[in-house]
Amino acid sequence: MSETTEQQKLKLRTDDWRLLDHVLAPAENWTAEQVLHWAYETFGQDVAIASAFGPEGIVVIDIAARVWPRLRVFVLDTSFLFPETYRLIEQVEQRYGIEVERVLPSLSPEEQARTHGSELWTSDPDLCCRIRKVEPLERKLAHLKAWVTAIRREQTSARADARKVEWDPTLRVAKINAIADWTHDMVWSYLRARNLPYNPLHDRNYPSVGCTHCTRAIQPGEAPRAGRWPGFEKRECGIHSRRGERG
Ligand code: SF4
Repeated sequence: MSETTEQQKLKLRTDDWRLLDHVLAPAENWTAEQVLHWAYETFGQDVAIASAFGPEGIVVIDIAARVWPRLRVFVLDTSFLFPETYRLIEQVEQRYGIEVERVLPSLSPEEQARTHGSELWTSDPDLCCRIRKVEPLERKLAHLKAWVTAIRREQTSARADARKVEWDPTLRVAKINAIADWTHDMVWSYLRARNLPYNPLHDRNYPSVGCTHCTRAIQPGEAPRAGRWPGFEKRECGIHSRRGERG
């Protein structure tokens, strides 16, 4: 009996897991360049960078531009990003000669308001993030073998044990955290040394920038992500909550 395309895809992804097994531990000693080079060598056009266009994301894109023959970048466009963020995306597109894919939610803002009530982010931000970020990411990852993030271990407690190469056994996709071990100072030193563009909101006390509805400037002494989801305990949108297999 011949296999369906879906069965072939799943088998290919199972083989990818065996391919990853021997690199999970050694990758911890690789530089970001080495991690990204390995990712492209292994997955080719089936790996893409997911960027929210924070300073870390710009660093990852810039490094990948030097080691990947062809950049593939997407953004989870909630429709609620700051105008400054949309402008930065265009700057990055011009600088690297690429088109950043806008991955949209299945519900428009108006459809979401009709289905779940207006300003869902004030009543159930977890559901809002699930509709506008997590589900679109899962749809996108169904067509990839690996995705690259820009998370760093020191950003939040939830990210503290991020490994440079992980495997998501549910979605059967590799997660590449190329700068997991970088510090805040390393990111900004890199940005300044390479004269890279960044979101001007960072100069106005917004160290972490998400949707307009859920981001405020922080006060002196507050944690960098204190301005995200003000009024809620929430500090993560959920796209990095899935725990993978680690070496
Ligand atoms: S950050 Fe806020 S507006 Fe954006 S998807 Fe999450 S809850 Fe909705």
